[in-house]
Amino acid sequence: MKDVFDKCRSWDRDRPLKEAGIYPFNHPITEVGEGTEVVVEGRRVIMAGSNDYLGLSTDPRVKAGAIRAVERFGATCSGSRLLNGTRSLHEELEHRLAVFLRREAALVVSTGFQTNLALAALLGPHDVVFADRHNHASLVDAVLLGSAAHRRYRHGDMAHLERLLTAADPAAGKLIITDSVFSVEGDLCDLPGVAKLAAEHGARVVLDCAHDLGLLGAHGRGAPEHYGLEAEVDLVTGTFSKSFASLGGLLAGPADIINYLRHVGRSVLFSAAMTPAAVGAALAALDVVEREPERRWRVLDLAEEAHNGLRALGFDTGRSATPVVPVRVGDETLCFRFWAELLAAGVFTNAFTAPAAPGGAALIRASFTATHTDAQLDRVLDAFATVGRRLGIIPPAPPTGYD
Ligand code: PMP
Repeated sequence: MKDVFDKCRSWDRDRPLKEAGIYPFNHPITEVGEGTEVVVEGRRVIMAGSNDYLGLSTDPRVKAGAIRAVERFGATCSGSRLLNGTRSLHEELEHRLAVFLRREAALVVSTGFQTNLALAALLGPHDVVFADRHNHASLVDAVLLGSAAHRRYRHGDMAHLERLLTAADPAAGKLIITDSVFSVEGDLCDLPGVAKLAAEHGARVVLDCAHDLGLLGAHGRGAPEHYGLEAEVDLVTGTFSKSFASLGGLLAGPADIINYLRHVGRSVLFSAAMTPAAVGAALAALDVVEREPERRWRVLDLAEEAHNGLRALGFDTGRSATPVVPVRVGDETLCFRFWAELLAAGVFTNAFTAPAAPGGAALIRASFTATHTDAQLDRVLDAFATVGRRLGIIPPAPPTGYD
């Protein structure tokens, strides 16, 4: 007889990497300091692998928001929002988010992943979902949990999306669902293209703004504001785990849709409410997002410099328009070696391989924070140059002219 645990016992993909000293995952950080330099296994390194884009995770105001919330409401809510878990603080955050995002209503959920899973409640048997192939796993899983037909279009390929929309049953309910900033390569979705096709085919648009809320747009309302297309997006989802320096997620849109998801979304109903600390931190971060646009400007400038610097060195950095900077490597083992040697050179990044990397081509994802200094960015670029040349990922340095 087979044992369901057999597959785990024979699974050892991490072992050879650990033996070779190039295992890039699960390394504990023992000190976070002010967030831009951390201590990993005794070594102080620049953190260029965090989603803390605005540098608020260690901001005294955000920490104080979390502490105040714990003092007032305790360590946890001990239940779901529907039953005993709702605190006035959740309602305050939902109200503040609806005003910030100029939407009728908002709902906060324990994580961004669960927020997206709640979308399954919208997807009935007579509906068709059109999804970008690079969508985040949480959107993919939401569609798998729902009962709608699933049509995946090639990444950013509006002609493909149009063909799929045209081929669908005209009577079916239609929903286009996409990341607004793709999480691995940092590129923006073609929102003008999506909005145009949605209008032509009577489809609703749901946009996962996990990476761009707080970051893009004049007021930080994300890619819809950046493109001037807020009215064309029916429902926005997001997370507090990036620019908002906390943990949790949000849905914002028409009041009746939010009310439905509040009562029907299974990942909302059957899970404990966001903790007071997480809500308090998110509220404090929202204050900063509203008042300090210079943080967005700073990190976008840093990202542009990082892109230009890496490109000038000969790296392939894709089409990112955000502080998420992909450095394409291709081969998985080479990518892990690159990650390990960058760490040894004092820079913490993230290694992405299948199934997270698009097309299975391994890449290093560097990400930047508003509080990184220019000197830290230079050190990151120097490390990429030295290690990239040593490993043959980029061409050797040009001769100096004296030899
Ligand atoms: N959507 C996208 C596009 C993401 O990148 C992420 C996080 N990696 C999530 C959703 C999930 O958010 P959370 O970390 O809050 O669960």
